[in-house]
Amino acid sequence: MRGATFNMKLYNRLHPPLLSSPPPVSLLHRARFTVSAARLDQLPAPTTAEVCFVGRSNSGKSSAINVLTNQRRLAFSSKTPGRTRLINLFGIPDPLAPDAWLGFLVDLPGYGYAAVDRAARDEWAEVLGGYLHERASLAGVVLLIDIRRGVTDLDRRLARWIALRGLPTLALLTKADKLPYGQRIQAAARARKDLADIGTLTALPFSATHRIGLDEAAAHIENWISPQAVP
Ligand code: GDP
Repeated sequence: MRGATFNMKLYNRLHPPLLSSPPPVSLLHRARFTVSAARLDQLPAPTTAEVCFVGRSNSGKSSAINVLTNQRRLAFSSKTPGRTRLINLFGIPDPLAPDAWLGFLVDLPGYGYAAVDRAARDEWAEVLGGYLHERASLAGVVLLIDIRRGVTDLDRRLARWIALRGLPTLALLTKADKLPYGQRIQAAARARKDLADIGTLTALPFSATHRIGLDEAAAHIENWISPQAVP
């Protein structure tokens, strides 16, 4: 009788190689469009943590939401007519209870369109100011600021609303790929000074196209939504 030959295929089936642990997937990647509201009274009852995104039109808000959620067209650019004048809620399903939402990312209407008339501006102030003032479930604010443009008067007005409630804020200085490193750091320091009204502020250079600041921003937002979450 011939001795048993070593069967590599059988060995591999019985002793599968230890899987190297996959990179952690951000909770934010699970976000799904849930509902749009034109007015505050159309929003669902506040039940779970919300993180809102605010910024001037063209600040890179939708690009930031799309890269943070790893989806190409979850949020629409301010150049797209339609959903951009609405409050859009993106739900993050609870991994442990698929029918429940762990939290929401809330895309608020962009502001500062040169062309908008007074009535539209007032409506914006009512929606945005009302949401920031009253929304009980608001856990944190992501403020998008074009890094080359810096903090504008409208951003400062918004900062005062945020400061009134003492909401923690993450300022993302968008399109950071357009500036060399040293200038990015200077811009972040300037933004911190300009937004000093907001007590709890983190300001980060960010780029949706070059993924600058992406992991840090995602960790910050995840922590607001689910402080104990194990992704
Ligand atoms: P929104 O109007 O605030 O939603 O802004 P968008 O996300 O639509 O972006 C406005 C413009 O800025 C678009 O032309 C984007 O391609 C551009 N943009 C957005 N993010 C970045 C970025 O990280 N780097 C660069 N270079 N351009 C960006």
